[in-house]
Amino acid sequence: MAFILIKTFTFTAPTLEVAWVTPVEVPDEALTRLQKAIQFKTVSYSYTTPHDSAAFMGLHQHLAQAFPWVDSLLEKKTIQYSLLYKWAGTDHSLKPVLLMSHLDVVPVDDGTLKDWEAPPFSGEIKNGNIYGRGTMDDKVSVLAILEAVEMSLRSGLKPKRTIYLAFGHDEEIGGDQGAASIAKYLQEQGVKLEAVLDEGGEIAEGMVPGLDKALAIINVAEKGYVSFELTITTQGGHSSMPSADNTIGSLARAIAKLEANQFPYKSIPLIDKQIELMGPHLPFVQKMAFANTWLFGAKIQEALNTRTATAPTIIKGGVKDNVIPTSASAVVNFRVMTGETTEEVLQHIIKTVNDDRITVKSISNRNEPSPVSDYESGSYKLIEKTILQLMPNTLVTPGLVSGGTDTKHYHAISENAYRFFSNPRKRL
Ligand SMILES: [Zn+2]
Repeated sequence: MAFILIKTFTFTAPTLEVAWVTPVEVPDEALTRLQKAIQFKTVSYSYTTPHDSAAFMGLHQHLAQAFPWVDSLLEKKTIQYSLLYKWAGTDHSLKPVLLMSHLDVVPVDDGTLKDWEAPPFSGEIKNGNIYGRGTMDDKVSVLAILEAVEMSLRSGLKPKRTIYLAFGHDEEIGGDQGAASIAKYLQEQGVKLEAVLDEGGEIAEGMVPGLDKALAIINVAEKGYVSFELTITTQGGHSSMPSADNTIGSLARAIAKLEANQFPYKSIPLIDKQIELMGPHLPFVQKMAFANTWLFGAKIQEALNTRTATAPTIIKGGVKDNVIPTSASAVVNFRVMTGETTEEVLQHIIKTVNDDRITVKSISNRNEPSPVSDYESGSYKLIEKTILQLMPNTLVTPGLVSGGTDTKHYHAISENAYRFFSNPRKRL
């Protein structure tokens, strides 16, 4: 007990002292420019439904008119409906950085239209908020980046390091055309990046109960993604004479086995770092747990979801109430933990289910977990410093994100990818 308490009382994290800076004034016209951008219905449905070229070209034209300095002074390349800008730096010995966002948004379900406080493509300002698709994800970043570059160009700023701006048009459905083509183009040009910065991390208030500061998570890694379909084939039969290995019952047992035999929670250095940074700022009981991971590590890993997640999401089978079907299928989605692979997931399913009548095949992209970006690098430290300059009472930590971002397309040309996006509505 004494050991646990000593570990708890001596558990501190270094605090980074950073001076505040005054945020740049955002002119009213910037709001108008964002409002107009929201009004283009640049929706990504799927790769079988073509993008609305008039909407995307309209948005391109709006950006060109709204940011004339960017449009005339930066090198611009249009790849399908995606945009890539190059702002050449003065020091060619420095590797470029790339700031990412995307021009597309997700569709609006017509059934929900009545629930919107303002129409989803209106960009209307109401109660101090701008409403519409893209205000949070992620036209706001496109506009914010362009506002910053335009302002810098007007003031005569010349960056030392080359800066690329990359805005994809199909992020919401995987980025296979936009971000993938931009990354391929840069790779062909021999470009090696210092880092990319994308959406995918945020400032969370109240996410960790009891934490005495706002929490800014710069995500430095992503879990992998894969969905497997399990299909069982049997003789079927009539429901008056059911056999013990009924089609649907057997499939249900297979799913139950997968749920009962989950992947183990894992400790990785990134999670250890998070525990080390967050722990000292937590109330006593949690702090004690975080300070004594040798004893409470499993509980914390559970809370942080540090394993490959298993989620059955679709089940199909049967057509008539008195017929045992000859086949039934289920889809299970996995978010693959750093250090594991989609192939290991497949082998795990086959071994766990252990039923020759069941075939397993992937029905999604097999996205492996991303590499873990360096959270001691200059780029990481710069993002951290900027957050603290604007929002001093914030704890910055690297994190692991379960969702996927477009950064996956850039691994070949950038060792480091940081996922952080902040909408600093108020100074904390
Ligand atoms: Zn997004």
